[in-house]
Amino acid sequence: TNPVFTGIATTVFETMSRLAMAHGAVNLGQGFPDVDGPVDIRQAAADALLQGPNQYPPMLGIPDLRQAVAEANRRFYGLEVDPQTEVMVTSGATEALADCIFALVSPGDEVVLIEPLYDCYLPLVKQAGGIPVRVRVTPPNWSLDAEALKAAFSDKTKAVLINNPMNPTAKVFSDEELELVASLCRQYDAYAICDEVYEHLVFDGHRHTPLMTLDGMRERTVRIGSAGKTFSLTGWKVGYVTGPAALMDPIAKAHQWVTFTTPPHLQMAVAYGLRKDDSYYDGLSQDLAAKRDRMAAGLAALGFSVLPCNATYFLTCGFEGLGLGRTDVEACETLVTAAGVAAVPVSAFYGSDAPEGYIRFCFCKQDAVIDEALARLSAFL
Ligand code: PMP
Ligand code: GLN
Repeated sequence: TNPVFTGIATTVFETMSRLAMAHGAVNLGQGFPDVDGPVDIRQAAADALLQGPNQYPPMLGIPDLRQAVAEANRRFYGLEVDPQTEVMVTSGATEALADCIFALVSPGDEVVLIEPLYDCYLPLVKQAGGIPVRVRVTPPNWSLDAEALKAAFSDKTKAVLINNPMNPTAKVFSDEELELVASLCRQYDAYAICDEVYEHLVFDGHRHTPLMTLDGMRERTVRIGSAGKTFSLTGWKVGYVTGPAALMDPIAKAHQWVTFTTPPHLQMAVAYGLRKDDSYYDGLSQDLAAKRDRMAAGLAALGFSVLPCNATYFLTCGFEGLGLGRTDVEACETLVTAAGVAAVPVSAFYGSDAPEGYIRFCFCKQDAVIDEALARLSAFL
């Protein structure tokens, strides 16, 4: 069997969700909202399911969704994209990541990754035969060290894989950081694979800037979005990739052997969803920011050191002095078994030598659920 897949544990998200269920814990581990996304989008999917067609859609995605993705690129970022040749629909951002990595990375190519990293990145790069080169952002502000990033690039660099806004750190990369990444891509003629699934979950006047919009990046960047995140429908697994035609061609070849296509009724509903007006997108981030504030205030009052959170669904916290255990894994075990609250150890987002002092709580939950989790923590601590 393939050591890339046999040597590793089940994902931390699945593991924690199973433990949460087994212990009747409030699940603030795996990132998913506990209220389904807009009813009109779900109605659009239900209508399309009944009316059909329900047969294989085109491999690149139904034309209306590719058109809607192109429109969204123009509307939110001023990017001009050809829906025929520069957009592809996938079964979730996870599939998009696999397609992009398999298509753009050849054995022996180096891929620069920013750590902490989303859990599928390392296995996918390794499966492609790529050599991961990891650079860290460091708490509490998760800032990117320019010298470390420069040192990670070389003539062997084929691509950088960047998650912005970033899970689990809730960081939005600054303009300066993005310009540094772009300048290194230009200098070393590297591709950028941008995981931007949290593009619309950005708070407090922060703005998401796709790396693709920077000088010289349009022709070397692919950017990935997820309807799961944008519409609070994580189980749908509808993603989309935007990139220059020359890169989309091999990416589509990878896609044809991974899933080939994505259920048509979901694609139709996502096309409808992407065209929702600004009040939807503004409301989404405002609601989440209020939940972040609710949970951050509660955790801080209990003695957690809550790190800044400018985006995503996640709060990372230190737990020193709370008696939860020495490491983040111990702390999460204690919390799920004894306090009845599931969180995720941040060390799971590292390839090796992880810091062990941080845990991640997911806050895209109903207020009553957040309050229940805080009450359980308060009773336990
Ligand atoms: N990238 C990041 C950074 C994520 O957090 C997630 C999961 N939520 C994904 C990709 C996967 O998205 P999807 O569910 O659309 O496959
Ligand atoms: N992205 C989600 C998280 O970070 C998990 C998705 C999954 O379970 N694969 O929690």
